[in-house]
Amino acid sequence: MTSIKGTSRIEVKESKTPRARRLAISVDIGKTTTRACLGQGDGKIIRKNSCRTASFENADGFVNQVITMIGSLLDNSGPIEEVEAIGIAAFGPLDLEKGTIINTSNSPKSSISLRESLKNAFGHSVVFLNDATAATLGEYFFGAGERHANLVYLTLSTGIGAGILVDGHLLLGKDGNAGEVGHMTVDPAERLACGCGKKGHWEAYCSGQNLPNFAKLIVEDLSSSGKLGRFSNSSLFGTTEALTSEIICREARNKDELAQKIIDEVGKLNTIALANIINLYDPSLVTIGGSVCLKNPDLILPPILKEIDNHLINRRPEIIITPLGDEAGLLGALAAALRLYQIQPT
Ligand SMILES: [Zn+2]
Repeated sequence: MTSIKGTSRIEVKESKTPRARRLAISVDIGKTTTRACLGQGDGKIIRKNSCRTASFENADGFVNQVITMIGSLLDNSGPIEEVEAIGIAAFGPLDLEKGTIINTSNSPKSSISLRESLKNAFGHSVVFLNDATAATLGEYFFGAGERHANLVYLTLSTGIGAGILVDGHLLLGKDGNAGEVGHMTVDPAERLACGCGKKGHWEAYCSGQNLPNFAKLIVEDLSSSGKLGRFSNSSLFGTTEALTSEIICREARNKDELAQKIIDEVGKLNTIALANIINLYDPSLVTIGGSVCLKNPDLILPPILKEIDNHLINRRPEIIITPLGDEAGLLGALAAALRLYQIQPT
């Protein structure tokens, strides 16, 4: 056990082999992109690949994609024995005990047995974590979180999630889903449906995938209250492209007033939801990643920094964009695979 900040502790298991000589495979499975790497215990990535995540509806294709990506890394890496383990960071919800990803869009719910399939394919132990939870470990060991025993990593991406380290303990929960903050209810009127099937969730409004739905709702509200007129020249109405989060962010940056209003509304919900997280877990550092934030830090971070004090009871933590870019989950899964933090038996 390595002591952090006096009484706070994180369970660190050190090997006699220097970290830089220890190797593992890690895979970060996002809803849009899957990344895999062969990496060292000091966080250096030796080789990596990425591709668009296969459809979750085809279980065999989904698993085979991950196996193929890992296989291509191992083929070029010399003896397979040098790799100690495989770390998986996956979008949730998960069942950590079974090593499965649950598909909430099907009824009854189906699941994909990823850990067992990878163990059978490669013979290595497989450590399995929620992607944002893994990214918290990445931040702690290789990013801005060094020596922060109370740390939150927030991802604003295709979905929304968080990883939470409290007093040096990584919060997992009974099934591994302790950080599913994207499914906090932020709209008691439940006007928008979430991908999980429930309504009113943060992710249904502010994730990259659902931002266009929130934009349409805002336009409907403006229309029904007779306030849409001042936005009638908005470029969002003039485009023949399907509305996407990228277009909304681009037009907000181009000073389109309607797009700016949408981003303002996103900022309000992001601020309230993050304040809730800070009031619950009292972190000293919050790092924010995920494609929506990483591509638009100028639109996402300032509203939070400006308004969050209005919602906090706890002392304000440092709130920054992750310095790890889109590799936080990959590096966290690497740390987990090498048991830099002891997660679970595999
Ligand atoms: Zn939801």
